[in-house]
Amino acid sequence: MARMGLHSGAARRMDGADYRESLRAYSPRVFVDGHGVDSVCDAPALAPGINALAVSYDFALDEARAPLMTAVQSSRGRTVSRMLHVDESAGDLLDKLEAVRLLCQETGCAQRYLTHDALNGLAQVCARLDDAKGGREHRERFAAYLAHVQDLDLAVGIAMTDAKGDRSRKPHQQANADAYVHVVERNGKGIVISGTKAIVTAAPYMHELLVMPCRAMNEEDADFAVCCALPVDADGVTIVARPAGRPGERVEHGDPVFSRRYGQSTAVVLFDRVFVPWERVFYAGEWQHSEVLTYSYATHHRHSCIAARAGFGDLLIGAGALMCEANGFDDPASNANLRQPMVELIKIVEGFYACGVAASVYATADPLAGNFMPEPVFANIGKLLLATQIYDMHRLAHEVSGGLVVALPGPDEDHNPATAARLAEALRASPQVPYDKRIEVARFVEDLTASYQGGWYSLISLHGGGSPAAMKQEIWRRYPVGDKVALVERLMDRGIVDDPRRPITRNRQPGRCCEAGCAKPGQAVMVPMAKP
Ligand SMILES: Cc1cc2nc3c(=O)[nH]c(=O)nc-3n(C[C@H](O)[C@H](O)[C@H](O)COP(=O)(O)OP(=O)(O)OC[C@H]3O[C@@H](n4cnc5c(N)ncnc54)[C@H](O)[C@@H]3O)c2cc1C
Repeated sequence: MARMGLHSGAARRMDGADYRESLRAYSPRVFVDGHGVDSVCDAPALAPGINALAVSYDFALDEARAPLMTAVQSSRGRTVSRMLHVDESAGDLLDKLEAVRLLCQETGCAQRYLTHDALNGLAQVCARLDDAKGGREHRERFAAYLAHVQDLDLAVGIAMTDAKGDRSRKPHQQANADAYVHVVERNGKGIVISGTKAIVTAAPYMHELLVMPCRAMNEEDADFAVCCALPVDADGVTIVARPAGRPGERVEHGDPVFSRRYGQSTAVVLFDRVFVPWERVFYAGEWQHSEVLTYSYATHHRHSCIAARAGFGDLLIGAGALMCEANGFDDPASNANLRQPMVELIKIVEGFYACGVAASVYATADPLAGNFMPEPVFANIGKLLLATQIYDMHRLAHEVSGGLVVALPGPDEDHNPATAARLAEALRASPQVPYDKRIEVARFVEDLTASYQGGWYSLISLHGGGSPAAMKQEIWRRYPVGDKVALVERLMDRGIVDDPRRPITRNRQPGRCCEAGCAKPGQAVMVPMAKP
């Protein structure tokens, strides 16, 4: 298959099989568990991740799902994957939310929503750069990159989280400069970067990487303020990855029903003097703009995380209900001990999802880039809720399922002539549900909540898209506390301190709940899906 080069020009939409084959045209330097990987698309250790990405490609071509999984980029007059779309309305954000939920129901995590979030954040920072400098150079560079990614239907890994070294120090204060990716050379053709991105989901089976700074910077950190795109097999890139999901496990750790098929690899990506041509450098040195990029990306991404974890929650709700049935309670409604934890699980999942819906409905257009951005307070609250409540979701799934989730004999015992028949008899619960079906559900719950993969889902919920402290900071920063203070002071006829510039009254954002009246929600119109 021909390499999808920078200037290939031809538009194409891939199905899952095409995507898988397209990886053959790339030869990234990848290590998994200490061994070099010769062919990413043939590596069993990476198969669950590639399977999950393939689902995102297949869904976009499926007639019934395509209205949700694709979108029209009106500026280009092209139908593109929703995961590569720059949002044009609040309805787009609702549709993305629903699309990500569907993908993550099916696969646990399909990575590509990160690309959506980064493209939208990048659109915003490029518009901001042009506004500050004059001209249209950054917008045009972004437009060319967007066309490249959309027309070739690329999988783009998001390399944002630096290794960061000593957390109490800024990038330029680190003993090892490679703790953050930074510019080591500039010339007429481009820049050369070195450093380390510590956590990149799905890196080995991406076509390209998008490098972005992970924090606001100051002038001394200018070399670390770098945002650029490059092929995954650019010279000098080394990817050190974990296996995706639980591909090889079977006997010792229960049967990973789900994550033998789907799961994501995470990788450390080492950059050693990697050249990036100027046409793919969005900025290098403009430290003032890193805050805009991290804020814009994080807001889009936290909104997507809400949908991703709602999809995961759907799996727990379904598995929890099946476990009740397999245990003999075919109607949890008749038993408060089971109904209550099931309702609690539903409340958590739909509760944080509702924040995603609200963040979409109250979305606003970026004043410079024009794309729609989720309302940040709701997006951050939704992400904060799921970050901590993921542990309650696991607990509730365990509560309704019982201890067999981790205590069942391993799958090889299912075929042991000395024990299999006795176990099948003794461990059957509901007379309607055969033993092998009951243990299959129990192993599904184990796989998602009590295995290495269960831990992975907890950690991606807690830290993916930023640790809880980052969300709390944004909520306080963006919430119009000043409006609420003014409201109470008005009701009391006078303020408690006569200083309109005091910090507590400063945050008086126009829009929702302000004295000027509520913001008009954007077009909260979702596309109907064709009946399957
Ligand atoms: C499964 C998974 C997949 C991921 N995928 C991606 C990806 O594809 N691309 C990507 O770029 N990133 C990815 N991430 C990274 C994610 O964004 C980070 O984990 C997150 O931003 C937190 O950073 P950290 O892990 O380095 O934790 P740390 O920054 O070390 O944070 C640990 C704790 O220390 C606190 N802390 C840190 N610094 C300070 C400070 N200066 N002052 C006070 N407290 C501090 C934090 O609030 C937190 O509580 C992924 C993470 C996970 C778990």
